[in-house]
Amino acid sequence: MQKYYICPECKGHLKVGEYIIFAAKNQKKESGLLLLHPKIGNYDSIKHPSFKHRKGEAIDFYCPLCNASLVSRFDKNLVHVIMMDKDKMEYDIYFSRIAGELSTYKVSDDSTVMSAGEHSHRYTFFRIPDKLKKYLHSG
Ligand SMILES: [Zn+2]
Repeated sequence: MQKYYICPECKGHLKVGEYIIFAAKNQKKESGLLLLHPKIGNYDSIKHPSFKHRKGEAIDFYCPLCNASLVSRFDKNLVHVIMMDKDKMEYDIYFSRIAGELSTYKVSDDSTVMSAGEHSHRYTFFRIPDKLKKYLHSG
């Protein structure tokens, strides 16, 4: 099924071809492009070998179109993008920006949360729907 990934700031399309494209910076402030697989729970990624990061390192994610930081406002370890399905239904997608940490969450309008990844239990925030509601759509 065709899905689109959209920058929450400029609404630009981040998915081109088979991958979602991000501008990224490691902790040494070295820049690179990071291509992530659009299927939730699939952690395949593509980068140029000159862009290096260590396991456990926090990667800064930016929109390649408007340069906005995509780090979530409510948890600095998570990246926030919008996913739109073919029926134009929008979902908030959050995933860990810690290299090697496999955690992804898909949040619907009605606060339904789908989590994926073997480390998704680390962000217990997503198990508390009432607390989550006030943060919905605020990034
Ligand atoms: Zn943008």
